Amino acid sequence: MLADKDRIFTNLYGFQPWNLDAAQARGDWDGTAALMARGQDQIIEDVKASGLRGRGGAGFPTGMKWSFMPKAPTPERPNFLVVNADESEPGSCKDREIIRHDPHKLIEGALIAGFAMRARAAYIYIRGEYIREAEVLQAAVDEAYAAGLLGKNALKSGYDYDVFVHRGAGAYICGEETAMLESLEGKKGQPRLKPPFPAGAGLYGCPTTVNNVESIAVVPTILRRGPAWFAAIGNPKNEGTKLFQISGHVEKPCVVEEAMGIPFRELIEKHCGGIRGGWDNLLAVIPGGSSVPLVPAAEIMDAPMDFDGLKALGSGLGTAAVIVMDKSTDIVKAISRLSYFYKHESCGQCTPCREGTGWMWRVMERLRTGDAAVGEIDMLYDLTKQVEGHTICALGDAAAWPIQGLIKHFRPEIERRIAGNGGQYAEAAE
Ligand code: NAD
Ligand code: SF4
Repeated sequence: MLADKDRIFTNLYGFQPWNLDAAQARGDWDGTAALMARGQDQIIEDVKASGLRGRGGAGFPTGMKWSFMPKAPTPERPNFLVVNADESEPGSCKDREIIRHDPHKLIEGALIAGFAMRARAAYIYIRGEYIREAEVLQAAVDEAYAAGLLGKNALKSGYDYDVFVHRGAGAYICGEETAMLESLEGKKGQPRLKPPFPAGAGLYGCPTTVNNVESIAVVPTILRRGPAWFAAIGNPKNEGTKLFQISGHVEKPCVVEEAMGIPFRELIEKHCGGIRGGWDNLLAVIPGGSSVPLVPAAEIMDAPMDFDGLKALGSGLGTAAVIVMDKSTDIVKAISRLSYFYKHESCGQCTPCREGTGWMWRVMERLRTGDAAVGEIDMLYDLTKQVEGHTICALGDAAAWPIQGLIKHFRPEIERRIAGNGGQYAEAAE
């Protein structure tokens, strides 16, 4: 369990004000100029040494991503940092808490990260539905400008750096990094083919790094306390602290900062008061937001909650949005509802996703009611394989994986419905 002294987000629950004075009293913006004086390359080396992996879901090494940025940008082709605050993954709500209660960690991190990658400016793209959060963030940015922390000669460092807050308009797909770039440019938010990756051709065709809110907000503390401190927490290749967002059938749903790799049972016992109705009542868990396959109760209990531990179970850490489902859950209906979500949010640009998500949802609905032939279970599985890996962006995979997880672990439940016996979980959920 993470010791209190190792927590980065000391105002996660908003017990103190978010404003600059309060943030500085908590240690934010302390010696920032001295951190920058270490030099761009040293900062990138320190972030690499910390082991920090992207907290938006994919887990790509953050320092390595920064190192892809050109070292000699020109005024005609500047570097940009884009902070992905378009948090829309079902179950995910950690970036919201950071922005609500600790926005200066994000802004200070955006300055240091932008400086390290020689960026001219940062664009923070915030989910349109986060109305109050966008107001807080803009107010915090304004405070930082007024205090000389941002803008021309930021922090008297000789470095000019702007931070812009840009509000989205409610499309899940704009959280995909290249769709976000399109949206920032004023176009329809549709993903681009990769490569080129944004570091080669990003915002307005310029070198760009897109990082998640949490990835950026932890950077000042990593640099202040040293990369070795961060790397000592968690497991090898899965280092550091992590915000877990636990929802569903636990006694006390919460967002909590914990050590990467904490076993599932410990996470739930320590912070959520256990499973509703006791551990025997646990059915399954989606451990990383809706884009990763579910894990049945027996397999998740002692699993380390980190990238590699959950990958070994055929799932993933994703955003660490832990969705807990007890035995009252209609598991087929739950996954069918996710299928509907992906069908609704598909941008329609590529055929396997545009057609496949609708097709998968329609079959899922028939499996939910039992109005299907047994052979359609395998047909649906084949269909998910036709979508997976055959689309421009990860939404196609995200639509396919939850269904694959359902068929792998709950085929008897689907067959029971088809046989007309009625599902025990369905009865409880009606
Ligand atoms: P990805 O693995 O394609 O890329 C991850 C990051 O690494 C990107 O920034 C990409 O540009 C970079 N990258 C990868 N390979 C690279 C290379 N060879 N050279 C340079 N850069 C490289 O994943 P993704 O599509 O960006 O993200 C998928 C994840 O997003 C899913 O796992 C899901 O968990 C998560 N997700 C999160 C939310 C949310 O609300 N936070 C919403 C939807 C999905
Ligand atoms: Fe759009 Fe889906 Fe293709 Fe992604 S996979 S580009 S969301 S159609």
